[in-house]
Amino acid sequence: MTNQDLLSVVSEYNSPVYVYDAEKMRSQYERLTNAFKGVKQLNIHYAVKALSNIAVLKYLHSLGAGMDTVSIQEVRMALEAGVAPKDIIYTPNGVSLEEIERAAGMGVQINIDNLSILEQFGTRHPKTPVCIRINPHVMAGGNSNISVGHIDSKFGISIHQLPHISRIVENTGMNINGIHMHTGSDILDIEVFLYASEILFNTAKHFSDLEFIDFGSGFKVPYKEGDKETNVEEFGEKLSKRFNEFCKEYGKKLTLAFEPGKFLVSEAGKFLVKVNVVKQTTSTVFAQVDSGFNHLIRPMLYGSEHEILNVSNPDGRERFYTVTGYICETDTFGSNRRIAEISEGDILAFNNAGAYCFTMASNYNSRYRPAEVLWYKGKAHLIRKRETFDDLVVNQIIPEF
Ligand SMILES: *Cc1c(COP(=O)(O)O)cnc(C)c1O
Repeated sequence: MTNQDLLSVVSEYNSPVYVYDAEKMRSQYERLTNAFKGVKQLNIHYAVKALSNIAVLKYLHSLGAGMDTVSIQEVRMALEAGVAPKDIIYTPNGVSLEEIERAAGMGVQINIDNLSILEQFGTRHPKTPVCIRINPHVMAGGNSNISVGHIDSKFGISIHQLPHISRIVENTGMNINGIHMHTGSDILDIEVFLYASEILFNTAKHFSDLEFIDFGSGFKVPYKEGDKETNVEEFGEKLSKRFNEFCKEYGKKLTLAFEPGKFLVSEAGKFLVKVNVVKQTTSTVFAQVDSGFNHLIRPMLYGSEHEILNVSNPDGRERFYTVTGYICETDTFGSNRRIAEISEGDILAFNNAGAYCFTMASNYNSRYRPAEVLWYKGKAHLIRKRETFDDLVVNQIIPEF
C-alpha cells in the first residue's frame, strides 16, 4: 500500500483506523507453504487470536488455511467464517472440562494440555480423537514473557510426564491422533527449534495412531530495519527433510501442522492515527496522537517497538519525537524516535499492526475501538465499523436511586 492509499483510507473512514493488506497476508502464506513443499501433507492453522476479524479469517481460509483457536468463541468465529470443524484445532490453556466438551461437540480437533483434563476427557469420551500438547522445555524465544517452553511455564504437559500420559491413555483407551508443541513466540535459532522437534519425534513414537504432528508457531517477523527474522526457507527445508525421515521410521505418512499468527498478519497491518498536539517540554518533543494503549498496547505491555512513519510528510526532515497517546496514563508508543517532521493534523502509521493489536484493544477512557479496513485488490473494504456511544453503554444496567 502506498502513502496515498493510507491517506485515502483515513479520509474515508477517519482516524484512528486499522488497515490490513490482503496481498501481504497472501504472500506470507505462500512463503510458508513453499518452504514446506517437500512434505506431502501440510496444514497451516492460522492462530485466530492474532487478528480475529471474520473477514480476515475468511480470506486466509480462501487461501487454504485452517484455524487454530484458544476459546470456544474463537471456534465459533472460525465456523462463522465458513471453516469446516475438521480444519479447526482448539488449543486452550486452563479452560474448564465443560468448555472442551462443547468444542468437541462441535466436531473440532481437541488439543489437551494438562493431565487432569486428559484423564477426565479420556474417561468420558474415549472415542473422540485428542491431540496432546507437550512441553519439551526448550526455550526458543528470547523474551521471557512470550517463551512458553521453559520449566515453570503453565503451557503443555511436561515431557518428563510421558509415562503418566501413557498410563492415562492405556487406562482410558482413548485415541491420541496428534501431538503438539508451541515453544515460544520468537524462533530465531533454527537449530534450537529442530532440537525441540527431535523431542517431539521421540514422544511421537509412544503413540501408534497419530495422524499429525503440530509444531506450533514462533516465526519471528522483522519490526524494523536490521531486525532478524526466521529464515523460513532454510527452516522449511531442514524440518521437511527430518519430518519425512521420521514418517518412514514411524511407518505412516503423517501431516505436518503449524499454527502461525504473527507471521501471517503482523506485517500486513498498519495502524493509522492523527497527531492532535505537538508539545515541547524542557527535554523532549512529544507528538500526541488520537489513540493510546486502549488501541495498541503492545509497546507498553511487551516493550514492542513498532516503527512509526509520518505518511503525511514522508520526505520531511527527520527530527526526534516521543510519540504518546491521549490516555490519562503514561502511554508511550515510542521514545526519542527519528521521524519525518511532524505537524499537528499529520497522519502517522504504526507498522506491524496486524497481530495482537486490534484484538487486544479496549474501551479504556470510554473511547471507541477503531474501525478496521481490509485493503483488497486495490480497494478499501470496511470490515468493522468504529464503535459508537451506544456500544459503550449497551450492556450497562442502571438501578433506580
Ligand atoms: C498464540 C499462539 C500461536 C501463534 O503464535 P504467533 O507467535 O502469533 O505465531 C500458535 N499456537 C498457540 C497454541 C498459541 O497460543
